[in-house]
Amino acid sequence: MTREAAIVGAGIMGLTAAHALSLRGVRVTVYERDVETGRGCSWWAGGMLALWCEMESAEPLIGTLGLESLAYWRRYFPGVVNKGSLVVAPPRDTPDLKRFAARTSHFEWIDRNKIAELEPDLAGRFETALFFAEEAHLNPRDALAFLRKTLETEFEVRFELSTTIQPEALKVDAVLDCRGLEARDALPDLRGVKGEMVILKTKDITLSRPVRLLHPRIPVYLVPRADNHVMVGATMIESGDRTRFSARSMMELLNAAYAIHPGFGEAEIVETGTDVRPAFPDNLPRVRRDGNILRLNGLYRHGYLGAPALARRAAEMIVDGKAFPEVER
Ligand SMILES: Cc1cc2nc3c(=O)[nH]c(=O)nc-3n(C[C@H](O)[C@H](O)[C@H](O)COP(=O)(O)OP(=O)(O)OC[C@H]3O[C@@H](n4cnc5c(N)ncnc54)[C@H](O)[C@@H]3O)c2cc1C
Repeated sequence: MTREAAIVGAGIMGLTAAHALSLRGVRVTVYERDVETGRGCSWWAGGMLALWCEMESAEPLIGTLGLESLAYWRRYFPGVVNKGSLVVAPPRDTPDLKRFAARTSHFEWIDRNKIAELEPDLAGRFETALFFAEEAHLNPRDALAFLRKTLETEFEVRFELSTTIQPEALKVDAVLDCRGLEARDALPDLRGVKGEMVILKTKDITLSRPVRLLHPRIPVYLVPRADNHVMVGATMIESGDRTRFSARSMMELLNAAYAIHPGFGEAEIVETGTDVRPAFPDNLPRVRRDGNILRLNGLYRHGYLGAPALARRAAEMIVDGKAFPEVER
C-alpha cells in the first residue's frame, strides 16, 4: 500500500499531482530546486482554460483531459473567471474565422452589437466574432500560490528546497518526476517549444475575458489580469533556449495587441518573459512508468488544461493500481 510519495518539481504538474495524491490520503514531500514555487514554465502561462478553442489544432485527448481539468479548477480554485472567451479576426481574415469555426464547437457567432455588449472597449472594432461562453481563465501565478498554500495548510505536504535531487535517488513507495523540460535526461523524446509573452498595463482598455486574434503565424491572445494588466502571448518556437526574447517576437505580440485595440500602443510594458514548454513529438502529455517512478510530462501548451487530469490518473495508478492506456505511452 502506498503511504508515502515524493514529487520532484513544483510546477503545475508537480503541485496538482501532490494535490491528487493528498486527496487520496498519501503523505507527500515535494522537492523543488527554486526558492519560489512554480517559477518554471508554469509561471509564464496565459492561464486560458480554452479547451474548445484548442480543439482547432489539438487531438481529442486534450478535449477529454481539458474537460476534467476545467471541472477541477472550478471545484478547487476560487480564482477561476467564468466569462468565456472571444475569437476575432481583422475583416480581411474572416475566412480564417470561418475555418476556425469549422474545426471547433461550443461557440456562437456574434455581431458587433454583442461584441460591444460583452467587451465595451472593443465596440466597433470587429464586425463579427466567435464567443466560447463555456470557457474560462485564471491567473496561473495565483493558482500556483493557492495550490502550495492548500497543500501545506490542509494536507501538511512538506516542501524541500533542493538543487541536486534526482528522482532515482528517492527511497519512498512512489516517486513522481515532474521536472518539466529538465527531465530530458530520462525522457529523450521530450523537446522544448519556446514561448514568449509580454504583460502590458493600461487604464484605457478593460477586457473581461481572453481575446484571441487569428494570426498567420502565432496564436496570439490577450488575457486580462487584475490591476489593469493584460498578458499578451504567446509565441511557439521550436527551441530549447529559455533566455532570448527576439525583437521579431516582441513586434508580433505588440502588433497583435495593437490590432485588437490601438490604445495598447500607449500601454506600459511591465514585464516580458520567455520559457520552454515541455513537449513530446505528438504534443500530447504522458505518464511513463519507470520502476516505482512515474514521469508526468509533455504538457506542451496545455499545462493548466492537462495537469489536473493527468495528476488524477497518476494518483489512481499509484493508489488503485489502475491503468490509463490513453496517457501511458
Ligand atoms: C508563454 C507561455 C504561455 C503559456 N500559456 C498557457 C496557457 O494559457 N494555458 C495552459 O494550459 N498552458 C500554457 N502554457 C504551457 C504551460 O505553461 C506548460 O505546459 C506547463 O507550465 C508545464 O508544467 P510543468 O509543471 O510540467 O513544468 P514546469 O512549470 O517547468 O515545472 C517544472 C519544475 O521542476 C523544477 N525542477 C526541474 N528540475 C528539478 C530538480 N532536479 N530538482 C528539483 N526541481 C526541479 C523546476 O524548477 C520547475 O519548478 C504556456 C507556456 C508558455 C511558455
